[in-house]
Amino acid sequence: MLNALVCHLCGKDFQERKTHTRHMNYCRKKAAKSPKTRKRSCKACTSAKTRCESYSNACLRCLVKGIACVMPFIESNQV
Ligand SMILES: [Zn+2]
Ligand SMILES: [Zn+2]
Ligand SMILES: [Zn+2]
Repeated sequence: MLNALVCHLCGKDFQERKTHTRHMNYCRKKAAKSPKTRKRSCKACTSAKTRCESYSNACLRCLVKGIACVMPFIESNQV
């Protein structure tokens, strides 16, 4: 099959060009609305200056390294 209609932004694939075009417009608008600066990085990623890809309770980097994933804003909450 040669119909590789994939959204460049979210990776979703489509069967019809019409649907794909419409989705691309929608996805582009959505991406423009959410600025990248909103994303927070955990302590480990901040100190390593790497991109923090958060999962349910730890980010990818911390999961791979097997270390505790600590978000800067909740650090003093645990006693
Ligand atoms: Zn998309
Ligand atoms: Zn991280
Ligand atoms: Zn982390």
